[in-house]
Amino acid sequence: MTTEDGKADYDVLIIGAGIAGMYMLHRLREIGLTTRVLEAGTDVGGTWYWNRYPGARFDSESYSYGYSFSKELLEEWEWSEHFSPQPENLRYCNFVADKFGLRRDMDFNSKVTAAHFNDIANLWTLETEDGKHRTARFLITAIGVFAKPMMPAIDGIDSFKGEAYHTATWPHEQVSFEGKRVGVIGTGATAVQLIQEVAKTAGHLTVFQRTPNWCAPLHNRPITAEEQKEIKTSYEEIFAKCRASYAGFMHDSDRRRALQVSDEERQAFYEKLYREPGFGIWMGNFRDMLVDERANTTISEFVAGKIRERVKDPAIAEKLVPTNHGFGTRRVPMETHYYEVYNQDNVMLVDLRETPITRIMEAGIETSDEMHEFDMIVYATGFDAVTGGYSQIDIRGSGGRTLTDKWADGVRTFLGLQIEGFPNMFTLVGPHNAASFCNIPRCIEQNVDWMADLMTRVKADELNRIESTAEAEEEWTEHVHLMAQRMLFSKTNSWFTGINSNIEGRDQRSVLLYAGGAPGYRDKCDEVAAADYAGMILH
Ligand SMILES: Cc1cc2nc3c(=O)[nH]c(=O)nc-3n(C[C@H](O)[C@H](O)[C@H](O)COP(=O)(O)OP(=O)(O)OC[C@H]3O[C@@H](n4cnc5c(N)ncnc54)[C@H](O)[C@@H]3O)c2cc1C
Repeated sequence: MTTEDGKADYDVLIIGAGIAGMYMLHRLREIGLTTRVLEAGTDVGGTWYWNRYPGARFDSESYSYGYSFSKELLEEWEWSEHFSPQPENLRYCNFVADKFGLRRDMDFNSKVTAAHFNDIANLWTLETEDGKHRTARFLITAIGVFAKPMMPAIDGIDSFKGEAYHTATWPHEQVSFEGKRVGVIGTGATAVQLIQEVAKTAGHLTVFQRTPNWCAPLHNRPITAEEQKEIKTSYEEIFAKCRASYAGFMHDSDRRRALQVSDEERQAFYEKLYREPGFGIWMGNFRDMLVDERANTTISEFVAGKIRERVKDPAIAEKLVPTNHGFGTRRVPMETHYYEVYNQDNVMLVDLRETPITRIMEAGIETSDEMHEFDMIVYATGFDAVTGGYSQIDIRGSGGRTLTDKWADGVRTFLGLQIEGFPNMFTLVGPHNAASFCNIPRCIEQNVDWMADLMTRVKADELNRIESTAEAEEEWTEHVHLMAQRMLFSKTNSWFTGINSNIEGRDQRSVLLYAGGAPGYRDKCDEVAAADYAGMILH
């Protein structure tokens, strides 16, 4: 992979045509930089293109999720539900792509397998699965945090003779559960959305649960005509609210501490949050709920009580109550009658802590005490989250150093946007970036707008090379670790902390997310830009 003449095909190559890649392309075009987007899928949408399983929908309020950059777009688009389902979300992505003519600068079916930096020419060369090479001065990854779906590490997966699907590579055709014997492996956010749907029509549903999660009611409903009008006139307030909040949502923490109020007041507050739509119970709870164990125990006990109320069989209810982590220290799945599903005669819960899966066979799933026969198995086993997408690409920076080698002892970044030793490469929604723990489009717009300012400078000053210093990277990485330490989630095994039992060697916790909050992160990025990109060398 060489570029002898030093001339690049494009100013910028972007990997990924999701929410981040689409907006980045739009901004770079405005600046007048030649840009090409390479996308593995056959069309735009990213997450909403791939995750087509029944039940997939936003946990963010729809109107807080859409792009804010175009008044015209806000005026033209109408969400039909407070928490919009995947087909509508994908339609939205298509609407944006059509409106701004984005597809003409995109190559689909173009999975990037390698990205190598040429130190002399200051160029990136990207190779796609079809063997094509493209070069650019700058490389911007917009691959998201869920680019690599994970199958469970279970013997015999290929031997199953029935239908088998992973939720993140769901077929484009309709899949029917009608009357079928369906097994679902997993009980994370995706599984919870899916299980509620499968239980409606399946002949029999068996859920294989390893770790129960704390789920909370979504309270979704259609948006009325009246509400639609109100939303249209309140966009400024909605986005201002998101901008001021810790994680870019319409919910921000209550200023009180959990134990500062009386038991009655606390109980009443939890009841109110449990009745309200969306992530309020997670993001709008007492300010110490996610940092103080005693505070956290009070909400965990409250939600445990709700599970016990809603699930009729006390033995099943106990299996559904998490015991190894507190409420909100892992991603909170949002649900609609999820717990009631376990009151149905056609649904069975298998607790894998008691009876682990031993293997998958032609007819179904064998556990330590029983053989479960199925017509269909659904793997709702999630992703190699945050860093998995990077590990799928052979990324080599200055001097041919691989990113795998660079991150061998843990992720290191500057602002979660650049990596020392990888000049001219930028990582939207990358690890250590506030966007990875955010109402993501809100943080994507911040990431992209900041990048657009930098790229404006590139164009004006005809810059060839931008790299972060080792000192800046060290300082930021230390800051990210410090911010994570105070959070209870850093003491819990989950994708937040890089734990994945389906991947060998991924049993040690690491720091992947930025827990210092979106406003603080934005300030830091602005400070760096205002100080003439302090921490970065611009040639
Ligand atoms: C089921 C589900 C529900 C979610 N709900 C919410 C929600 O309610 N609120 C919220 O804020 N976030 C939610 N998320 C997170 C969601 O990922 C983000 O909101 C957002 O879609 C991220 O956009 P992105 O552009 O950064 O990444 P993505 O949407 O993941 O897009 C990345 C694109 O990069 C492409 N790509 C990756 N690697 C390569 C490669 N090597 N070569 C070529 N192309 C590549 C992928 O094919 C993909 O199209 C949800 C995620 C899932 C899975």
